[in-house]
Amino acid sequence: MRLVIGHLYPDHMSIYGDRGNVIALTRRAQWAGMDVELRPIGPGEEGNLTSLDLLFMGGGQDKEQALIADDLVRYKAASLRAAAADGLPILAICGGYQLLGHYFRTGERGTLPGIGVFDAWTVAGSRRCIGDCLVESDLAGEMRTIVGFENHSGQTYLGEGARPLGRVLVGYGNNSRDRQEGAVQRNAVGAYLHGALLPKNPWLADWLLRQALLRRYGRADLPALDDTVEEEAHRAVIARIRRRGRVRSGAI
Ligand code: GLN
Repeated sequence: MRLVIGHLYPDHMSIYGDRGNVIALTRRAQWAGMDVELRPIGPGEEGNLTSLDLLFMGGGQDKEQALIADDLVRYKAASLRAAAADGLPILAICGGYQLLGHYFRTGERGTLPGIGVFDAWTVAGSRRCIGDCLVESDLAGEMRTIVGFENHSGQTYLGEGARPLGRVLVGYGNNSRDRQEGAVQRNAVGAYLHGALLPKNPWLADWLLRQALLRRYGRADLPALDDTVEEEAHRAVIARIRRRGRVRSGAI
């Protein structure tokens, strides 16, 4: 079996280890015996997004987001919206997540247009949300934890078309108010969590791979991999959060 993984704006949108998500998806697919084609998609290209099996877009500072926002609308919006509506699994982190919503009203660079893959919008807040984050999510059918590192000014709000990825146990998540983190719409997942996210939350990587396989081949038999190291990394973040006392009582 073969999977084509697109990486949107790899040179502009990849901070705090976001590229590690593409490595995790690629390696886990290969360990499961699949052939993987990795397709970087930069500015000026239409990118044939409807032919992809999976798409990743990382985060960036407002400056980088401003550099690619118009390109996203001009060259990618139509096919990306069509692919998302057709169930393309997407992972978008932080700045990427914001631009896949309707818009991002920044502090100093005006309002950047988004493309509405997520029914969500973002407005810069007056203080940055920074730190380790712990979330619980039932995306894969049972309650699991997600760990990551967030650093954003944007406060994201969800409309009725999107549901949250999970509930914030520690940290800020989408905004400082509703204790929700991320967005899920069809098979597109947006999250504020860097780190990289997938190497230390392997179940989420496998969820994305499964959706890709189901969509392309109608079945998704991923072999169980030895995740000892990944689970250790996951636990290490939780232990660090505990040590620093960022845990609300009873959360973990
Ligand atoms: N520039 C955006 C913000 O500050 C996104 C930051 C990021 O991707 N880490 O909200």
